[in-house]
Amino acid sequence: MLALSDLTLSYNEEAPVLQGVQLALRSGQFMSLIGPSGCGKSTLLRVIMGLQKPQQGRVQLQVPLDEVGFLFQDDALLPWRNARDNVALGLRIQGMSRRQARLQAEAWLQSVGLAGFEDRYPQQLSGGQRKRVSIAQVLALQPKLLLMDEPFASLDAIVRRYMIEDLLHWVAQDEITVLMVTHDLNEAVSVSDRVVLMSNGPRACIKSEHEIPAVMRASLLEGGVHPEQARIVAHLWQELSTEIQLPHRQQRTITEAA
Ligand code: ADP
Ligand code: MG
Repeated sequence: MLALSDLTLSYNEEAPVLQGVQLALRSGQFMSLIGPSGCGKSTLLRVIMGLQKPQQGRVQLQVPLDEVGFLFQDDALLPWRNARDNVALGLRIQGMSRRQARLQAEAWLQSVGLAGFEDRYPQQLSGGQRKRVSIAQVLALQPKLLLMDEPFASLDAIVRRYMIEDLLHWVAQDEITVLMVTHDLNEAVSVSDRVVLMSNGPRACIKSEHEIPAVMRASLLEGGVHPEQARIVAHLWQELSTEIQLPHRQQRTITEAA
């Protein structure tokens, strides 16, 4: 579905943010991308979307960009449009008639659990409901590839859990390939087929890749915890912490010791 080869990108004249990034995403895969804050995860997604041009390397997408959906941490709903019209907007842009777009938008709002909320404006919805409108907006466009940048970071734990379970269901149903940036290791391990770790920047690249056994995902979705999960999460945590150096913390320890 997606292949990144030898990507190098720098902003302005600075040291490259990304250097030599190699990544392959198979069709139907659910991949999570984790890495230290500021290492270039969002930048990488922008490169895939064609919003940022790499100085070196190639992005090969097997689908046209209009079949790529995006879901971000902050929802991009228009405050002056109600839920129905927010979802319908993308369909109208794709050329659907007003009537058909409204009907489709209502069907999608219903399937994300928001039947009866069609006329509400974003400020009249909870954070979780707004996120559901955003999801309906993206899914209505029937993407083949879905890119998500910490999509559930602003939600509380319970809403987040339900949202993720539903999302997994929709993604499987529509056979959508997913690349999700997350900082939550447990979440990454419980939803993904593959977890990819980026090294610290500058010159961040893919440091390691981990295959997650399908049996583990199944048990998590049933509400259980697979014994392997803790081991994989601990391993990722270990790898991630070797990437993150916190000079101010080391400094403080030294000062305290002095
Ligand atoms: P992440 O999403 O992993 O937290 P980002 O991709 O947002 O990281 O940022 C990676 C690095 O690039 C950071 O050091 C950030 O300050 C820098 N950066 C991001 N966007 C820009 C920009 N538009 N211009 C210059 N530097 C940027
Ligand atoms: Mg980011």
